[in-house]
Amino acid sequence: MVAEKAADTTKERNNQLDVLSSTQATIKNALEKLGYPDEVYELLKEPLRMMTVRIPVRMDDGSTKIFTGYRAQHNDAVGPTKGGIRFHPDVTEKEVKALSIWMSLKAGIVDLPYGGGKGGIICDPREMSFRELEALSRGYVRAISQIVGPTKDIPAPDVFTNSQIMAWMMDEYSRMDEFNSPGFITGKPIVLGGSHGRESATAKGVTICINEAAKKRNLSVKGAKVIVQGFGNAGSFLSKFLHDEGAIVVGISDAYGALYDPEGLDIDYLLDRRDSFGTVTKLFNNTLTNKELLESECDILVPAAVENQITKENAHNIKASIVVEAANGPTTTEATKILTERGILLVPDVLASAGGVTVSYFEWVQNNQGYYWTEEEIEEKLLQTMVKSFNTIYDTAHNRKVDMRLAAYMVGVRKMAEASRFRGWV
Ligand code: NAD
Repeated sequence: MVAEKAADTTKERNNQLDVLSSTQATIKNALEKLGYPDEVYELLKEPLRMMTVRIPVRMDDGSTKIFTGYRAQHNDAVGPTKGGIRFHPDVTEKEVKALSIWMSLKAGIVDLPYGGGKGGIICDPREMSFRELEALSRGYVRAISQIVGPTKDIPAPDVFTNSQIMAWMMDEYSRMDEFNSPGFITGKPIVLGGSHGRESATAKGVTICINEAAKKRNLSVKGAKVIVQGFGNAGSFLSKFLHDEGAIVVGISDAYGALYDPEGLDIDYLLDRRDSFGTVTKLFNNTLTNKELLESECDILVPAAVENQITKENAHNIKASIVVEAANGPTTTEATKILTERGILLVPDVLASAGGVTVSYFEWVQNNQGYYWTEEEIEEKLLQTMVKSFNTIYDTAHNRKVDMRLAAYMVGVRKMAEASRFRGWV
């Protein structure tokens, strides 16, 4: 019941705040600032390819349920498209399209030889059995098999999907391909060709951005009060990394509520008690709402859950001086403007959460070469990439007198615009 309520609220909000339109508007603005003609915008405003599939799954009670899924491929001028697969009741066609565009921007920002892709299935995995999830995952791969592959489009995990789901999908593709194809998908278990550091890569990248942002604001991360919205893959690892660095994690949340303690939460205990969907607040009585948490006292705020959480309704009440977007699309265009005008340093999603796709790229390179790197090697490469990308965007924002999001879009869009022109597409 509570889950349905949380999902309904997000769906309603996402319907009102169309993430695709706001992304298109920022891309248009970025291309204009870079001096590209309108036809480049016309090419990049939508994915090149969008596939809708219907996946029949025999449920445990003997009935057959038909699920709807999507795969969007934004632009493959630079290289194969790449991006996660989301299992969530709120998935929409527009959301998947926007997510694929953000993946293109991320690949541009961290300079990977990829374009952006994204997939989603409308379902609630929290209410499905292990067997039903396996059937759905395999059915989705069969349905999209014509347009994906290690040199075409490489999926990965996203909200409510994990390394087990990636393993089933890799196995299904390998069976169809009649070859072992670890390069088909990233975020796999290590024994199936996964990379060291992939599971925590998004959170590592966010941590690196937080440290760089704190330096710019002369704020010490050690002792800083931090709120993290979302306690899944991104949010839980992030809370742990910041806690270990000496930050005081005062607030966390999941889809059902939030916990806040000005003295700091017991992160190790919460990590121990969370379930595989990033749920932990159900164990407590005195919870806050996600809305209340976002407006609570802190130095650094990290939305790490879903879209459209910081809006024009609450942007004036955010207490943090630094907001770092681990989630995709958590802040609306109006809220970005309000936060920037208030002097809050906003590190945008397409930069802050690019650690995941960066290590996914490392995983794919290792799969292709059949030679694997150590965790230390991966961490060093990720650190170099994120620090360089952060400072490029920070300097672009400063030099071009634009906010950090527009600066990130300007950096992110340039490579695919150039590649599309060299190919003669525009
Ligand atoms: P996850 O499924 O592991 O965790 C999601 C978390 O958000 C859970 O704690 C869940 O309870 C919470 N949540 C779900 N619906 C919510 C709602 N309506 N309100 C508040 N909280 C809600 O997902 P994740 O992989 O940690 O992804 C979180 C965000 O980070 C997403 O926006 C995702 O696109 C982005 N991201 C993830 C990766 C990655 O590698 N996992 C990479 C880049 C970006």
